[in-house]
Amino acid sequence: MGEIVKMDIQNSNEMKFNGLLKDKSFINGDWVSADDKSTFEVINPFDNSLITNVASLGGQETRRAIDCATEAFKTWSKTTAEERSNLLKKLYQLQMDYLDDLAQILTLEQGKPLKESRGEIKYGASFIEWFAEEARRTYGDTIPSHGVDKRIITIKQPVGVVAAITPWNFPNAMITRKIAPALAAGCTIIVKPAKQTPLSALALAALVEKAGFPKGVFNVITANTAREIGDEFTSNSLVRKISFTGSTKVGKTLMRQCADTVKKVSMELGGNAPFIVFEDANIDNAVSGAIASKFRNAGQTCVCTNRIFVHDKIYETFVDKFTKAVRKLKLGSGLDEKTEIGPLINKDAVEFIDGLVKKSVSEGAELILGGQQIDNMENFYPPTILSNVNSDMEIFKNEIFGSIAPIIKFNDEAEVIRMANDTPFGLASYFYTNDYAKIWRVSEGLEYGMVGVNTGMISTTVAPFGGVKESGNGREGSKYGMDDYLEIKYLCIGGI
Ligand code: ADP
Repeated sequence: MGEIVKMDIQNSNEMKFNGLLKDKSFINGDWVSADDKSTFEVINPFDNSLITNVASLGGQETRRAIDCATEAFKTWSKTTAEERSNLLKKLYQLQMDYLDDLAQILTLEQGKPLKESRGEIKYGASFIEWFAEEARRTYGDTIPSHGVDKRIITIKQPVGVVAAITPWNFPNAMITRKIAPALAAGCTIIVKPAKQTPLSALALAALVEKAGFPKGVFNVITANTAREIGDEFTSNSLVRKISFTGSTKVGKTLMRQCADTVKKVSMELGGNAPFIVFEDANIDNAVSGAIASKFRNAGQTCVCTNRIFVHDKIYETFVDKFTKAVRKLKLGSGLDEKTEIGPLINKDAVEFIDGLVKKSVSEGAELILGGQQIDNMENFYPPTILSNVNSDMEIFKNEIFGSIAPIIKFNDEAEVIRMANDTPFGLASYFYTNDYAKIWRVSEGLEYGMVGVNTGMISTTVAPFGGVKESGNGREGSKYGMDDYLEIKYLCIGGI
């Protein structure tokens, strides 16, 4: 097990956040409480201490927010791309100016190490900057006509009011990745963040307010119970699009619910990423790539490596080097600069992955490292390595979302591609090889939306992020990211 870094968290609660720590929802430019004044607790996962209580809204307030966003859309959608771009640039600058406050709030409510939180705030800001630029490039076409008296052109228009539902693992970036293209396109938006991490969303709302966006253009609804908000978002015909990041289970429910009003949907759902190390790979690079993609955010990202496949010829060497490197990872408070692995989001998450480890061992996997809950650190789970895993085991089929690395032995390329694809998911995948022909064959053979070749880090604003199969649809970031928030309208001009 890794070294444990402890820290006095109480001192951290006294830090100043430059007015960015908010406890009310943000609707139509106002900070609002629930109609019935109800609130819920936001808990620091490091030690289960209370950070603050936040307003818990319901269906009624959501309806009002949708009405306000609908009203705001009338004028926001008519602004010039330049106006929207300039406001987004201001927001980008504010997010960078307040980087430290935003990162500390993020670590407090989510638990990830400060270094990762700073990275997330910069990554989150990069979407705002990118779409501030893209706002000015939503070109249409002129199409050669089918008739001498006709001319054809296309224009792009914002889809309308967007509702976004976001998870707790990236409390800032999963929101900016949606709001930036939506606002750039001329849509108005209502965000419902996860109840575990509402503070980063509210801090962002405070920056939107500072930037001077018109009221009703960006709204945040905080709630203890997601269901009521989701029901209103999906059934209300004024909402034209749902953008969701979260579990496949909830994504499917939302898609079903959206059917009645035929909403546009973008779904960024679960993953079960394979990480394949071929016999000709640079093993040291593969070890560091596997650590980066497995243990970032304590394994709680949808692109985290879920199954490590290693070729028979290099299996022992890889397992040995990987184990030595993982053993050095430092657990502790995210606020301590030395920490590399923070807590999991809560006790349920710890119990889930502890159960997976026990089940794997009972199914014949070998426990190489970790595998024991830690005394007095309820929400922590040590980095854990399991070898001799096979495709019949439960861990092979599940999205782990925690710090367990299961290793599977393979012998040939076709077999490993088949095993890698043997899952309903299709988000991220990774492989290491120095054979250029294999790079093409395997990249084309993997049924995934994203492939990392000789790297474990693939997320960037400039590339399209998204999945296939039950990992979802739509793409976020890149030149394609605006498309999800735009409709193409075709104009046929006759009588010429
Ligand atoms: P996770 O396992 O990461 O918590 P979820 O899919 O449960 O993933 O949660 C992702 C987001 O979806 C959160 O904001 C959560 O509150 C929200 N959510 C969960 N259930 C529903 C629902 N029935 N309707 C709308 N949103 C929901």
